[in-house]
Amino acid sequence: MTVDPRRLVPRTDTVLADPRLVAAAGRLGNDIVRGAVRQAQQLARSGGIAPEVVADAAVRALPESGTALSMVLNATGVVLHTNLGRAPLSPAATDAMTTAAGYVDVEFDLDSGRRAARGTRALDALRAAVPDAEAALLVTNGAAALVLATTALAAGGEVLVSRGEMVEIGAGFRLADLITSTGVRIREVGSTNRTALRDYEQAIRPDTAAIVKIHPSNFRVTGFTSAVTVAELARLPVPVIADVGSGLLRPDPLLPDEPDVRSALRSGATVVTCSGDKLLGGPQAGVALGAATAVEAMRSHPLARAFRLDKISLAAFEATLRGPVPPAHRYLHADPDQLRRRCENIAAESGFDVVPSDGAVGGGSAPGLSLPGWAIAVPVALARPLRLGRPPVVGRVERDRLLLDPRCVPEEADPLLRKALATAAGARDG
Ligand SMILES: *Cc1c(COP(=O)(O)O)cnc(C)c1O
Repeated sequence: MTVDPRRLVPRTDTVLADPRLVAAAGRLGNDIVRGAVRQAQQLARSGGIAPEVVADAAVRALPESGTALSMVLNATGVVLHTNLGRAPLSPAATDAMTTAAGYVDVEFDLDSGRRAARGTRALDALRAAVPDAEAALLVTNGAAALVLATTALAAGGEVLVSRGEMVEIGAGFRLADLITSTGVRIREVGSTNRTALRDYEQAIRPDTAAIVKIHPSNFRVTGFTSAVTVAELARLPVPVIADVGSGLLRPDPLLPDEPDVRSALRSGATVVTCSGDKLLGGPQAGVALGAATAVEAMRSHPLARAFRLDKISLAAFEATLRGPVPPAHRYLHADPDQLRRRCENIAAESGFDVVPSDGAVGGGSAPGLSLPGWAIAVPVALARPLRLGRPPVVGRVERDRLLLDPRCVPEEADPLLRKALATAAGARDG
């Protein structure tokens, strides 16, 4: 007499008593563990695994933490991949987030026992990194910094924006709509390809409260073009708000066309705004730096409370600035010869080709700039199995091949990449 193997699938309570799953329930909560057990039982009922290994399968299916987000190996070669969370944080920033997770003196003075200004350590780090600014403010993201700057400086009035800088930053969001959403009016000046200082000069009226200079970071107009620099605009009798976007704090020779915060301030911008999680390499945040009166007007505006940065991001931001060079910066400046050697190592067993590969800055920064490097070229059919592996590997499809570029993969994860490649190739061949 044969027993239906499905009858041998252990009961939920029996599996849940496995010490590893008891420990996991304490760490992750009952629901997640029960979900993993149900999934493993289902697999056993359908004959996918033997009934004896249901507990093992459940343990393997558990997420590393209470989030269903997956850590991903970014083998796209795109450093600031918005769909993959932009800048990866440094270990220093990650540790700081853990410190800030509990009760912390984010708004409290331990010496006097009284309330203190919020996030002063992060602001101190920011001012130390950009000494040219009189004052600094941190908000939730770059868009918030820009809308707060324009509202605080130009409420009820109008701002001048070049027609060449009416940028859409992605998913249908246009910076012009953002600025006008709080009632500030925009007076467009110049043309799509050319705007002159004279255009701004002639557009100034009594209710012109500021000039907004937006870095068109994600597209490029070439040919018969001209734009007005911050230095030229600063000579006009209205404040200049410069949205430099990417958060490069100082010039970087690798990115000659990317504006930086320090240069914009030295050129006379009243307020400079940017993101924290692009080239700055930190957590999602919005930065405003500049003249004390302007930054104070932003800080005391009611909207500032709606854009308040959380304690975890404040801690990560501070640690990014004070700590070692953040990963995004290292990936940007990766040595091509080293990338090639890593590719050859990773591809050694599987025998796939190692080919030249152009990485990119991404995140809407430095369009058209390619970062010379190398990649492993594999059939496009491997893309899905690689994405669904553990950890998921995301590559870049180019000319009918899937390229796996190690630029943005931490070097210590190379063995994981090699294993993922072998698993995906094996599943296809087997
Ligand atoms: C990215 C970007 C923004 C938006 O910043 P977020 O941090 O994504 O809100 C605004 N302006 C420019 C020029 C940008 O490049």
